[in-house]
Amino acid sequence: MVQERLKYLRDEINRANYLYYVEDNPTLSDFEYDELFRELKKLEEQYPLFITPDSPTQRVGSISTKFEPHKHKYRLYSLDNSNNYEDLKKWYERVEKECGKQELVCELKIDGLAIALAYEKGFFMRGVTRGDGVTGENITQNLKTIKAVPLKLFKNVDLEVRGEIYMPKTSFEKLNEENLQNGEKPFANPRNAASGSLRQLDSTITAKRDLSMFTYTGILENVDVNLKTHYETMQYLKDIGFKVNPNIRLVKNIDEAIEYCKEWEFKRFDLNYATDGVVIKVNSFACQNEMGFTARAPKWATAFKFPPEEVNTKLIDIETSNVGKTGAITPVAVLEPVLLAGSTVSRASLHNFDEIKRLDVRIGDTVLIKKAAEIIPKVIKYVETPEHNSLPVYEAPTKCPSCGTELIVPEGEVNLYCPNIYECPSQAKSRLEYWVSKEAMDIDFIGPNIISQLYEKNMVKTPDDFYRLTQQDFMFLDLVKEKSAYNMYTSIQNSKNRPLKRFLTALSIRHTGKETADLLSEHFGSLEKIKNASVEELSEIQGIGNIVAASVYNFFHTPNNLKLLENLNHLGVIPKEGTVIQSNVLNSKVFVLTGTLSTMTRDEASEKIKQLGGKTSSSVSKNTSYVVAGESAGSKLTKAQNLNIPILSEGEFIKLIEQKD
Ligand code: NAD
Repeated sequence: MVQERLKYLRDEINRANYLYYVEDNPTLSDFEYDELFRELKKLEEQYPLFITPDSPTQRVGSISTKFEPHKHKYRLYSLDNSNNYEDLKKWYERVEKECGKQELVCELKIDGLAIALAYEKGFFMRGVTRGDGVTGENITQNLKTIKAVPLKLFKNVDLEVRGEIYMPKTSFEKLNEENLQNGEKPFANPRNAASGSLRQLDSTITAKRDLSMFTYTGILENVDVNLKTHYETMQYLKDIGFKVNPNIRLVKNIDEAIEYCKEWEFKRFDLNYATDGVVIKVNSFACQNEMGFTARAPKWATAFKFPPEEVNTKLIDIETSNVGKTGAITPVAVLEPVLLAGSTVSRASLHNFDEIKRLDVRIGDTVLIKKAAEIIPKVIKYVETPEHNSLPVYEAPTKCPSCGTELIVPEGEVNLYCPNIYECPSQAKSRLEYWVSKEAMDIDFIGPNIISQLYEKNMVKTPDDFYRLTQQDFMFLDLVKEKSAYNMYTSIQNSKNRPLKRFLTALSIRHTGKETADLLSEHFGSLEKIKNASVEELSEIQGIGNIVAASVYNFFHTPNNLKLLENLNHLGVIPKEGTVIQSNVLNSKVFVLTGTLSTMTRDEASEKIKQLGGKTSSSVSKNTSYVVAGESAGSKLTKAQNLNIPILSEGEFIKLIEQKD
């Protein structure tokens, strides 16, 4: 039994290694790979007799033969890793047992490709991939095209450094867009893109790709200094011309190292390069030598792996029942629930039907899904499995799932739309849900369930119907008691005079979101003026193109919509007129108001700033142009003083806004 499981794990991991290191086309996610690897390691620890020399736990990576092989002068290793803090503490206990208390160095674990660079008398001689740690591939010519690989150092020294080649996230996205436009397959992630770009037989292709490198260790052979620690070595490497990651930190103990891991688990999303964990290394070379290596990794270092951002799971279904407020049908992937970046995911975005066609994902496929920061997870690709070809190719729906109307693809768009704008129940409900949402009319206490009931009972079909409801009407709905009926009723009544920009947003005009509504409100100031504007007048506004202008114009020239506006007006739903920019005296300057002003409220001051072409912000930063300090101004004033930002008294502010252009 145990032997069978061991064989299974070894075979699976060896196959994954080949696909990952040689083919650049992994079929397992890193998380799944790591799980298999940890299981194998644990079993081998329990049954050491069964360890074979060719077990993946005894080896590093895998070697490809695309380029000329080169035997490394000094072996390259992998790293042991874990995904919990307990293991880090156990690792440190072993360090302490061997060498006593030790300082540690924390570094971000860059998710790229390991490389060894050899320098003689300060000149770059050779660059070799890690390969199996003993032999790698000589890719010197390609490495010479990367600016972060110095061809000549500031000192004439002999040394070898190791580092990670990576592709910045923005360059990866750009490259994938280009690949798509040229009908080529996109790369699954920045690591794959870096590896694919670096291992090109034609180095002019590598030169065109934006690659960079962070150096993370060095073996100094013939240098003018006697360095005793890893941290000093990294400073030295930086001084002689290597790019060292600026987030390196020297810490006193494992607790501080764990703090570093916690800090970067979220901060990493702000970086323009992919990281998959933190590497923790003993700082002292004396202790490093004392501890040594296993067959595969140094004992004096360990890696903490961040929760996965990408995992594989099964695509159970593609749901198309959601008809949006503008009639667009958005396909949603229904997934076998899986843990991703710390939360369980069972649905992911597929964007539109064109995307499904491009990805060729089929129901029943294993798919790779990805989540970055707060963004909703999305399906990246299907994983090549023997089943894929036997699954039926996905066919997009032809009829609206809600009302059965034939779907259309408007010219120049990729989405499928239901053209039955006014009668389609799903579309109408989506518009009502949007009407009450925070960014539109901001009506509390009314959610999708209440809207669905109001719609089904024919009480609300269009937004104006909300304002016809009495408090009593809500009592007809399931589970609604007097108190919530009162809350819902009052909330609706209180929304009657929202600012124009919110009212425009709430109308669900196609191509007109919050920003466009803002632009329209600022430019025209009143609903009447927007209604009467021509396409030309609309498209003259900076930020509004022809398509948006035509869409706004059409909305205000459609009888159904005009009827809705008229009804709303009769019911007293009259938006507060928008701020019209009267001049540009303040020229986009950013103001922060703090303390109490004696001649006007803060809202009035903000309004005036906007009218004169300025902006307001609630916090002081280096981008603030002025801080207006009223009575009892507090911490914002202090911060402005520290940042040397001009501070205006109320009198000075009034003088500024009274000037004419
Ligand atoms: P590793 O990536 O877990 O760790 C070692 C590597 O980390 C080093 O070789 C180095 O390249 C890199 N590194 C980045 N920053 C570093 C720093 N500051 N200091 C030191 N090293 C740093 O180990 P590995 O042996 O290269 O690869 C194993 C990992 O690769 C797995 O854990 C898995 O995530 C992935 N993998 C995935 C598959 C798959 O099928 N998905 C297959 C094989 C490997």
